[in-house]
Amino acid sequence: MEQMKIGVIGGGASGMMAAIAAAGKGSSVTLIEGGGRVGKKLLSTGNGKCNLGNMKLSPEEYYGASKEWIASCLKQFDTEDTIRFFEDAGLLIKERNGYLYPKAEQAAVVLDTMRIRLDELGVRTITDCKVDAVRKALKGGFDVCAGQECFHFDKVILACGSKAAPKTGSDGSGYKLAKDLGHTIVPVVPALVQLRCRETYLKEVAGVRAEAVIFVPAGGQDGARARIIERGELQLTDYGISGIPVFQLSRQMNYLIKSQRDLSEVEVAINLLPEYTDQDFKAFCDKRKFLRDRRTVEEFFTGILNKKLMLLFIKLAGLKRDIPVSGADEAKLAKVFALCRDWRLHVTGSNSYDNAQVCAGGVDTRQVGCNMESLLVPGLYFAGEILDVDGRCGGYNLQWAWCSGTIAGSSAAAF
Ligand SMILES: Cc1cc2nc3c(=O)[nH]c(=O)nc-3n(C[C@H](O)[C@H](O)[C@H](O)COP(=O)(O)OP(=O)(O)OC[C@H]3O[C@@H](n4cnc5c(N)ncnc54)[C@H](O)[C@@H]3O)c2cc1C
Repeated sequence: MEQMKIGVIGGGASGMMAAIAAAGKGSSVTLIEGGGRVGKKLLSTGNGKCNLGNMKLSPEEYYGASKEWIASCLKQFDTEDTIRFFEDAGLLIKERNGYLYPKAEQAAVVLDTMRIRLDELGVRTITDCKVDAVRKALKGGFDVCAGQECFHFDKVILACGSKAAPKTGSDGSGYKLAKDLGHTIVPVVPALVQLRCRETYLKEVAGVRAEAVIFVPAGGQDGARARIIERGELQLTDYGISGIPVFQLSRQMNYLIKSQRDLSEVEVAINLLPEYTDQDFKAFCDKRKFLRDRRTVEEFFTGILNKKLMLLFIKLAGLKRDIPVSGADEAKLAKVFALCRDWRLHVTGSNSYDNAQVCAGGVDTRQVGCNMESLLVPGLYFAGEILDVDGRCGGYNLQWAWCSGTIAGSSAAAF
């Protein structure tokens, strides 16, 4: 029987998955990787433990493409399919609060499992081969070239990743390959990344971690109507803010900064006492007055939040820490309380692609079918982060790699 010859460009999570799916359907598959080995990024995922999926899967966990488009993709390969795939391949999986990890807690065993499957299915893997051109061939199919070396395939899957963590090989070159074939690239920004802030005083609280709600105020009079809200452990650094809730906000902040002429408008508001309602907090502040008689300002505020943060807020309110609180300016005392629940920081940007876990933006999914085939170039498919799909922290990006990789590989293998 005639075999479909498929070339998969990019040996990351999605490319390996696409190769396995296509080879599993009987195609002759060549996996071409620019770096010295496949799956380099996979090794650094989940702090080396690889958070490979999440039991709570929904299109709401993803940005970029329309929710309908993402939903119809996830329906074809969901979390259950991910678990089944890995367990059938011999990998034990464990769940912690809905997050999926290999039982061995080692990303390396996930990669090994995939490499074993690639071998078993006879996928030809070529490394150190950076593809710089993909062209439609006159005789049909595609010519794929890396310098002087050219290959011919019936179908091609672009799985080159994004620009995030370029040390792992994904340097954005896939976008150019897609663009040269006529595809539109939605502007790309770093995502799941730390944010940088204008306030230089953050150096004083670097290293502090605190549970917080972070939101982007809607601006104008009605600052309470937040645009985005995230909750979790905030980490303060000497240049800005980090931690999971900040990572989750970062893609929107980067797009906001891109669209804003006046950066002084781009701010986040931090509530370090989110467990209180406004009313409860007012009652708390009133009640605390019983501590006023003998204490200094610093002593009066001791015990509410991390010591370094309280001292910073005292300073920002314009108070001296060692004066008796009984003589302190009422408005300034109120300001310290207010800062605990509404601390504004001006965001100037994010850390670079080097620090980003993923990118927002990429190949516009309005030009790609839910079977991952290009609507512009028949026989061309996409998988993984090269597409304009980015997930929240929690295993959603790898789930997207497995899902889109399987769909692309299976569809490409069909005659
Ligand atoms: C530090 C870190 C931690 C992360 N942790 C998690 C996590 O725990 N859970 C989660 O879900 N997600 C996590 N992610 C995100 C996740 O790793 C990615 O979304 C996923 O690996 C994307 O897979 P991909 O195959 O699309 O791209 P990549 O994994 O980037 O693979 C693309 C491959 O294509 C190759 N390539 C690129 N251009 C060419 C070319 N022109 N020719 C040949 N080869 C080329 C690259 O060398 C690379 O190997 C993390 C990311 C990082 C950086």
